Amino acid sequence: MSPNKDSNSSKKYKVIFDKEGCIGAAACVASDPNNWKLQDDGKSSLKDSTEIKDQFEREITEEELQAFKDAAESCPVNVIHITEIATGKKII
Ligand code: SF4
Repeated sequence: MSPNKDSNSSKKYKVIFDKEGCIGAAACVASDPNNWKLQDDGKSSLKDSTEIKDQFEREITEEELQAFKDAAESCPVNVIHITEIATGKKII
């Protein structure tokens, strides 16, 4: 029997980081240094994310949403997006 992957069910939102458009303004890092980090290439990176076609994605819980919303809102070029997984609704 495979282990029950219940932990995934608590992930309600998906963060999508379009790294190519990042200009390294680091507002996201200032807003949420636990999840965003400036890299040597001058762009930001999203901790614990998976690279999918030049974008970085990570599923997050309800509790994590506010911090990611704040980071996304602080980004001057709007390359951080959040969608609700169940509905596909765009949060930001
Ligand atoms: S705030 Fe936006 S542009 Fe600035 S480092 Fe973060 S993702 Fe890149």
